[in-house]
Amino acid sequence: MTENQFDVVVIGGGPAGYPAAIRAAQLGLRTACVDAWVAPDGSRPFGGTCLNVGCIPSKALLESSELYHRAQSEFAAHGIEAGSLSFDVGKMLERKRSIVKQLTSGIEALFKGAGVTPIHGRARLEAGNRVEVDGPDGKRTLEATHVVLATGSTPIELPVAKFDGERIVDSSGALEFTEVPKRLGVIGAGVIGLELGSVWRRLGAEVVLLEALDTFLYMADQQVATEALKQFKRQGLDIRLGAKVTGAERRGDAVSVRYEQGGKAEEIEVDKLIVCVGRRPYTDGLLGPNTGVELDERGFIRVDDHCRTSARNVWAVGDVVRGPMLAHKGTEEGVMVAELIAGHVAEVNYRTIPSIIYTAPEIAWVGQTEEQVKASGRKYKTGVFPFSINGRAKALQQTVGFVKIIADREYDDILGVHIIGPMAGELIAEAVVAMEFSASAEDLQRIIHAHPTLSEALHEAALAADKRAIHALNR
Ligand code: NAD
Repeated sequence: MTENQFDVVVIGGGPAGYPAAIRAAQLGLRTACVDAWVAPDGSRPFGGTCLNVGCIPSKALLESSELYHRAQSEFAAHGIEAGSLSFDVGKMLERKRSIVKQLTSGIEALFKGAGVTPIHGRARLEAGNRVEVDGPDGKRTLEATHVVLATGSTPIELPVAKFDGERIVDSSGALEFTEVPKRLGVIGAGVIGLELGSVWRRLGAEVVLLEALDTFLYMADQQVATEALKQFKRQGLDIRLGAKVTGAERRGDAVSVRYEQGGKAEEIEVDKLIVCVGRRPYTDGLLGPNTGVELDERGFIRVDDHCRTSARNVWAVGDVVRGPMLAHKGTEEGVMVAELIAGHVAEVNYRTIPSIIYTAPEIAWVGQTEEQVKASGRKYKTGVFPFSINGRAKALQQTVGFVKIIADREYDDILGVHIIGPMAGELIAEAVVAMEFSASAEDLQRIIHAHPTLSEALHEAALAADKRAIHALNR
């Protein structure tokens, strides 16, 4: 083989692409991973949106702002006198960048260890599984037996509120504010809007979220969504539902945002505006003529259950294909595809993909919501257990929220688990394992949960589904 011939070429080095490349190399396939990312400092990191401007940096800032907030509002209850508190946004940003740097350079090290060839540049798939790469060292053509497309997604731009990179920004821009905006507007009270709105609210911004839908967190269990709305409002997030944005214009150093709510025209003025109304699959310039790769009506690359595209030996994984735009979903698809290419049997269980919103309280779920189960006509039971009577939650001073389990009324299999509360994103892992192994509520009831832990709330919720919780009244 020449240096341009590979068994597998992965286009895109985000959380779907880079694990696909590593797994393919582990399985003995000669593999390259091509990525076009250029960071503001001119470096060319792997890791995609997730590591560079998404999951990781947002969690870094969420942690910093949450620590500040807790020091302000909770230390006194612990008998801790912290004196006057202050924060330095610059240091928070530095810490965030350092975490990103460590993780992105880690991928290069992993590639080296596994034997993946990293290639920097913009790749384009041509007919016959050739991949043209235009990079810092010029152009080259790769020949691949298999190509995996993992080019991810990009923020949707609203025609009525176009990004200007300064005052009207996308989620990446909102992770780079060098000072706390006094008045922050957010269009879209979805996952990004709530996470980034929380960061800047905790640091003192007045935050208004304009959400087009009348239903808050439509994709979540509505019992959880109701509790979340109550808590976020209590934190001072001004969430306006049924608010349809009709325009946003710069006015000097401010942005004026016009919207309609309940048939009335409204207007607010903010210092910064984050537009986070969803993401679209990113395929710009990716496909040459006659590749045979089809897109669906929404622009996603069309794939089957095993991520095969309509072209022979071309696969697609992650945000660029149907399904939830979640890093871990893309990762599992990438690994599955590498294994299928190597001749193994592999599957992704799309029914047990957990979702997490990293607000405080955190929100996490797996499986169906109560609304979905009800609509399916299945007979079900629910068990709910509040953190307010969980010993560990009390010790942590984090007693807001609950765990809710939905199980089949007759067969007892777990259909969905929904958590709002401390460490929900970690706790949901147990529910995912349970559902992956087709556990019943009784299985969870009989599993020993250490005391005192937050996980006891999950145990008690399973017990509550059969009205046998020990630490609740089972009404
Ligand atoms: P989203 O789909 O979660 O939320 C977008 C919100 O914007 C929706 O509630 C929608 O109703 C609203 N909206 C759309 N058009 C509007 C308009 N014109 N005016 C007002 N509201 C409008 O999308 P997002 O928050 O942008 O996130 C993008 C993707 O990234 C999602 O798929 C999300 O799951 C993923 N993501 C996940 C995480 C995580 O797992 N914690 C974090 C960040 C992003």
